[in-house]
Amino acid sequence: MYYVPDKFPTTVVGSYPKLGKAEDLIRQRKRGELGEDEFHVLVQESIQEVINDYLWAGVDILSDGEQSREDMVVYFAERLEGYVGGEWVRIFDNVYFRKPVVAGKIRYKSPMAIEDWVYASSISQGRPVKAILTGPYTMADWSFDLYYGDRRELVIELAKALRHEIEGFVKRGARYVQVDEPALSTRPFKDDVDIAKEAAKILFHGLDVKSIMHVCFGRIERILEYLLEIPVDQLDLEFKNSNFRLLPFLAEYGFNKELGYGVIDVHSLQVESINEVLSDIEKLMKTGILPPEKIYIDPDCGLKRLPREIARQKLRNMVEAAKKAREVW
Ligand SMILES: [Zn+2]
Repeated sequence: MYYVPDKFPTTVVGSYPKLGKAEDLIRQRKRGELGEDEFHVLVQESIQEVINDYLWAGVDILSDGEQSREDMVVYFAERLEGYVGGEWVRIFDNVYFRKPVVAGKIRYKSPMAIEDWVYASSISQGRPVKAILTGPYTMADWSFDLYYGDRRELVIELAKALRHEIEGFVKRGARYVQVDEPALSTRPFKDDVDIAKEAAKILFHGLDVKSIMHVCFGRIERILEYLLEIPVDQLDLEFKNSNFRLLPFLAEYGFNKELGYGVIDVHSLQVESINEVLSDIEKLMKTGILPPEKIYIDPDCGLKRLPREIARQKLRNMVEAAKKAREVW
């Protein structure tokens, strides 16, 4: 069993650049040339490369790199009952996004992300692998609803379905479960956070697991006060890209959870130096909000858009900075 450091454990938010054949395999599966089971076996080669990179960098709590997921919402929509194939929606200019359509009652069918997690855990040399799912609020917000006609109801039904997946993870021994809710920051209102709060209760109540919610970008300071009421053990937030703008707000509201502290900019090709990350950790320590035991050091968000070499090096410097921080605080 690997010993996760008590102070400043390092982790990742989830996605990693697609490695090896993952991209091709996803295309083949879409064209119907590969069945689901066969796909998940073949994608293991890519997951292995991701884990190798994490081990090289020295990250404490890993992920499977989301090598199977072409999109964080579409992947789960395709595997839940109630969704039908989506349409392409224009976001801006020539950027299109395939928005899945809810056309019937949402129901859980079978494990969606568990198999990849089991494989990643089997090769992680004892380091824990975080189980990561797209949250029900984001699933609902980024879908077309032709069935429920009520946002809250759709979110709650999705939460009930995703609860089955989380129970599956816990049964297989997952110690950390994270739901990603990036859509929360795009609609920064109390009513929306309240829906996510109700959903989080459904997802995690009564489970003996470290529960985490990742929210990124947008105007998080407007909803931070309400996010603190969400019943999860840890909030994982982006800091680096917004120049640590959130820190005074954390101090103001009194942070009462563990914090996933994003110190790596996933939109920049420039690799943060060890000293830079260390001084960014110092920014948080100076506020006195949290002890090092409640601070997880990680990137702002998933690393999927970065070139692999840069992603690797950013993680390595992050890990080295966390080691130094353990000597200081
Ligand atoms: Zn994110």
